Amino acid sequence: MRADVTLADLPLRPELVGEEPYGAPQLDVPVCLNVNENPYPPSDAIRREMADAILAASARIDRYPDREASELRRRLAAYLGYGLTMTNVWAANGSNEVMTHVLGAFGGPGRRCLTFTPTYSMYPEYARNTHTEYVTAARHDDYTLDAGLVLSAIDTQRADVVLITTPNNPTGTSTPLDVIETVLEGTDAIVVVDEAYQEFSTTPDASALGLLPRFGNLIVSRTMSKAFALAGGRVGYLAAAPAIVDACRIVRLPYHLSAQTQAIAEVALAHAPAMLANVDLLRAARDELLVRLPELGYEVVPSDANFVLFGRFTDRHLAWQRLLDAGVLVRETGPAGYLRVSAGTPEEMAAFYAAVEQIGHP
Ligand code: PMP
Repeated sequence: MRADVTLADLPLRPELVGEEPYGAPQLDVPVCLNVNENPYPPSDAIRREMADAILAASARIDRYPDREASELRRRLAAYLGYGLTMTNVWAANGSNEVMTHVLGAFGGPGRRCLTFTPTYSMYPEYARNTHTEYVTAARHDDYTLDAGLVLSAIDTQRADVVLITTPNNPTGTSTPLDVIETVLEGTDAIVVVDEAYQEFSTTPDASALGLLPRFGNLIVSRTMSKAFALAGGRVGYLAAAPAIVDACRIVRLPYHLSAQTQAIAEVALAHAPAMLANVDLLRAARDELLVRLPELGYEVVPSDANFVLFGRFTDRHLAWQRLLDAGVLVRETGPAGYLRVSAGTPEEMAAFYAAVEQIGHP
């Protein structure tokens, strides 16, 4: 084959032909409100401790890291509470990788993964990459779910793995715990409750973690990328029955979590209250978006996460571009006519409101 081979010349898997790598634009813009991060970095003291932990780990960087990430999983279990232990917890490079492990273990050829749209745009990619068929059912018009809708979709779509995202991305809609409980009482499919944004909820304790002692098919997925302010560290995790963790251990690549990743995340968990200290501020910024955007003439979708869908624009791409021209990056995603903005610092929010007032209503 010629050295200047192009993608079109290569024997790519047919389902990958024409596909683009996933990802929001990473642009160098003063105000980035596009990927739902926590914009408050750790203190200098915590960063120093992270650096020291990496220095200590590098003393034996010639060796592979702890393949089981035992200390990290122990600390994650302690952070979650609910009597969970390391055997209930699995961790990987972001919940994106955790979910790939789940579908690697429980999806695959001939299996179906069901989600409730509109929802997180990476799910179809996890399914594609694990050769799992991706099927969907629409949420109600207000983006809520009830147990009847979920159970009937599981039945008609013959789902093997069900993903319920609460609060949902990109709508911010929470699914009440009693709905999840009724779903679990009605199915033996693997039910993944993606709680990536749970810490931002007005009811953070209404977590599906409390249902784990009763349901062996329940997986609760969490991440350190959002409330925990560790998106750059790349750590996601799940809590489930030990047998589910064992299934993930079969499909993971050996030594998938680097020594540096484990070291940084362990320090972050030792300082959980400090890492989470600004969640209340972000909740308040979210609540302010829900009040101020309607005052500026926009529709908003009620949100329980750290972002808000707002619109509706006739030409949302033009609105997105005008905000970008004003130095504010938001996300062009979700139902037609809407943009999604993440809650930011007071300075970022001030810049966002000033930009929104400039762009009009394209
Ligand atoms: N689940 C949901 C609902 C998300 O919105 C995201 C990030 N946008 C993730 C999972 C993945 O996060 P990470 O891989 O950074 O843990």
